[in-house]
Amino acid sequence: MTDAFIGMGSNLGDSVALLIDARAAIDQLAGCRIVASSSLYRSAPIGPQDQPDYFNAVLHIDTSLSASELLTALQYLEQQAGRVRIRHWGERTLDLDILLYGEQIISQANLQIPHPRLTERAFVLKPLLEISRQTTLPDGQSLTTCCTATADQPICLHHDSRWSITP
Ligand code: ATP
Ligand code: CA
Ligand code: CA
Repeated sequence: MTDAFIGMGSNLGDSVALLIDARAAIDQLAGCRIVASSSLYRSAPIGPQDQPDYFNAVLHIDTSLSASELLTALQYLEQQAGRVRIRHWGERTLDLDILLYGEQIISQANLQIPHPRLTERAFVLKPLLEISRQTTLPDGQSLTTCCTATADQPICLHHDSRWSITP
């Protein structure tokens, strides 16, 4: 079994419901179990600015799936949520990114782990640091230092009674 972290995002449709459903679906995947869920956050979009704010969270899972099997399963869930790629970094019903997969460093054409933009994004770093005891990346970079460097990015905790951190 491998500890992995998944970043979730949504800014189309009923985003909170979509994230709750995705979290339940991930917990029900064969070979996947949720260990912890972060709080829910609201963040300003990166990329095109003429799109709604995002709702974000990070999940800690324990999985027997390989990283590439996990990616396939997550992409299936994105499709089930009606994800359509309209424009780069554009609006989406559901985005599921593998942030970390154990201590592994993977550089394949369709899969890079740690997620290559993890260190630049407050909407990933804040929820990740909330639930992860691991505070360094496999290359030794400090997640806390990265998070401090993103302090100018608009992000806040978002309270919604439907979201519980004990999934
Ligand atoms: P970003 O990757 O900057 O967060 P995005 O999430 O909008 O942007 P997508 O359109 O969802 O990007 O994904 C583009 C491709 O990224 C996917 O087809 C997938 O093969 C690839 N990819 C590479 N590494 C990862 C990873 N760690 N997790 C998820 N997808 C990844
Ligand atoms: Ca993403
Ligand atoms: Ca993605």
